[in-house]
Amino acid sequence: MHDLFLPDPGQPHFCAKCAQPLEPRSDGGRDRPRCPACGWTYYAKPALGSAIFLEEDGRLLLVQRAHEPYKDYWMLPAGYVEYGEDAAETAVREAMEETGLVVEVTGIQGLYFGAGDPRGASHLAVYTVRRHEGTATAADDAADARWFAPSEIPDRIAFDSHRKAIGRWLKGQRKPAPGPSLLDFSGAGPAPPLLVYAVIENPKGTTARVVYSHSTAVCRDREAFSQASSPPLRMDPPDAFDRGRRRA
Ligand SMILES: [Zn+2]
Repeated sequence: MHDLFLPDPGQPHFCAKCAQPLEPRSDGGRDRPRCPACGWTYYAKPALGSAIFLEEDGRLLLVQRAHEPYKDYWMLPAGYVEYGEDAAETAVREAMEETGLVVEVTGIQGLYFGAGDPRGASHLAVYTVRRHEGTATAADDAADARWFAPSEIPDRIAFDSHRKAIGRWLKGQRKPAPGPSLLDFSGAGPAPPLLVYAVIENPKGTTARVVYSHSTAVCRDREAFSQASSPPLRMDPPDAFDRGRRRA
C-alpha cells in the first residue's frame, strides 16, 4: 500500500480561467484553491483508468512499461479514460494500442483504488475480455507484451491498483463475482466509516439494511439480503425490517 500523494499532483497555482494566483478557501470541509478574482475553484478529482484482463490457457497478458513512471515495470494493458469515453471502450482501445489485439469485453473483473501513482490517485476499472483477433505484440507505450502463468508473474508490477487486480487472480478468484463482492475496499485505508451501509428498497416500500465489512466488502447479513431481494414482496412499512429483528 502506497501513501497518497498530497497535495494532489494536479493542483494548480493559478486560475485556469483568468490566471490569477489561487488562494486556499474552506469549501465542503476541505481547503480548495480558489480564484479571488473570478471565483473559479479547483476540485481535486481522482482519475479513472481502464484495463483489460485477458487470460488464456491459465496465463495472463501483461505489458511492460516503456516510459516513466515505473519504466520497465509490468502492468495490465491499460490507459486513462478520455472525457466522454465509456471505460469499456477505453479498455478495447488500449488493448489495440498497446498489444495490437482486437478484444471484446465480457465482464468486469473489479474496480480498484490506487494511491501510489505520482501523477495522482486514481481508480482502475478492470474488464475481462475475449480475444477476437490478433497476436499480442508490444506497441505504443508498451516495451513488451507477454503471457504469464501465476507462478511467473513478475515482482515488479506498476501501481497498486494493478497489483490488487493481479493479486486477486493469483488468489484464485478468477471469475467475476456478482454484486457487492465486486467492490474491493482492501487497502483503501482507515478512512471512516469503518462499516458501509446500503439500504435496499423494494418496489413495495420495505427496506432492509445490509452490512458490508470494510476490509472484505462481504455481505454479513445474508438473511436480511435475501429477505429484501426475494419475492414475494410484502406491504410492510419501511421500518418492518428493524421491528422484525427485535421480534426475532
Ligand atoms: Zn479566475
